[in-house]
Amino acid sequence: MQTTINMETVEVEKWLNWLSDFGATKNGGVTRLLYDDSWIKAQLALKEKMIEAGLRASFDSIGNLFGRLEGTEIKEKAILTGSHIDTVVEGGKYDGAYGVVASLLAVKYLYEHYGLPKKTIEVVSLCEEEGSRFPLAFWGSGSITGKYKLEDTKELKDANTIPFHTAMESAGFPPSSQSAARSDIDSFIELHIEQGAVLEKEKQSIGIVTHIVGQRRFTIKIAGESNHAGTTPMKYRKDSMHIASELIVYAINKVAEIDESLVATVGKLTVSPNVPNVIANEVAFTLDVRHHQEEILDRYCSIIFSHFENLCLEKGTGIEISQWVNVKPVKMDENLNDTADRILQDMSIPYKKMISGAGHDSQMFGTFCPTALLFVPSSNGISHSPSEFTKIEDLKNGVIVLIELLHKLAY
Ligand SMILES: [Zn+2]
Repeated sequence: MQTTINMETVEVEKWLNWLSDFGATKNGGVTRLLYDDSWIKAQLALKEKMIEAGLRASFDSIGNLFGRLEGTEIKEKAILTGSHIDTVVEGGKYDGAYGVVASLLAVKYLYEHYGLPKKTIEVVSLCEEEGSRFPLAFWGSGSITGKYKLEDTKELKDANTIPFHTAMESAGFPPSSQSAARSDIDSFIELHIEQGAVLEKEKQSIGIVTHIVGQRRFTIKIAGESNHAGTTPMKYRKDSMHIASELIVYAINKVAEIDESLVATVGKLTVSPNVPNVIANEVAFTLDVRHHQEEILDRYCSIIFSHFENLCLEKGTGIEISQWVNVKPVKMDENLNDTADRILQDMSIPYKKMISGAGHDSQMFGTFCPTALLFVPSSNGISHSPSEFTKIEDLKNGVIVLIELLHKLAY
């Protein structure tokens, strides 16, 4: 049905601008945090749009919004499509919002042109993904997939010490025993901006994500000896700064030898006493490592950490390595990806298969049901900023592919 889609009728840009008014900031950005005023208004306005489009709209107990188009043959399980409605502080108008708007537009288009599907489709505006108000991310998708429970949020407070459950209540979702977990999800399809520059640099309009990377984060603490910067000869020093620098250079240089998709980042350094004329006694640095295969992460970490320990032993300094993030890689569904692949080939839309280096709601769904994550380019790779931008042709291509994909799966 490719050639029949009339994209003039799909007003993706207009709808994105409309949605970005909820939480618009004076810098041209959007701040829409879980359960805040602009969040409530956006979800309620989307509910109205869903109803206008002919969908049965409803909230679950925690504020995820669903718009259901009931299947005529298979009603028990629903194909879920959407993304998250929340933003970071001073975010842009595309991250999350594009997936919500695109899904609603795609399902609206299908209903207008083809009537009811055989298989139930639901559009979802997930309540939270960013972790920007409370210290918890993926609250929407994590709850639907049963990974989070209400008890997990009991102690959480935002920056103004408002408890999570008070915020829920004031947004119209009083904490209840009713679970948001679903057991009737057939598959999940998410459209999202890339938040990187690969598609733009390679002049591709769509990215089919094959894997979302696993992430490990560590803090490495080197314990040496503080001493006078003038009176301590070099050969008598246990200089933590010197050792830490060697380890950092080693860790970063090693990446290229292991795998071209591996990335490692030392983003934070804490020096004690942090004084110009004193040899540092303690240096702590973080290490963030990402790849889509556990065995690569294992191999890299074991090589560098054994080198770290050997070097510290040789230099007589202490070393302590502690891990505080361990997220496993998630594979997207091959069948869904093959279908998307064929659609893109048939339509001659430039695309590539790629790895997602950032986490997304699809990561929660990927271990729960067949999941597909499609990217559109981010101008200059910028996201989480008012300058987030995606060209209209790419936004439309995303919606076209979603229409085709849902048509193939549900009609
Ligand atoms: Zn997002």
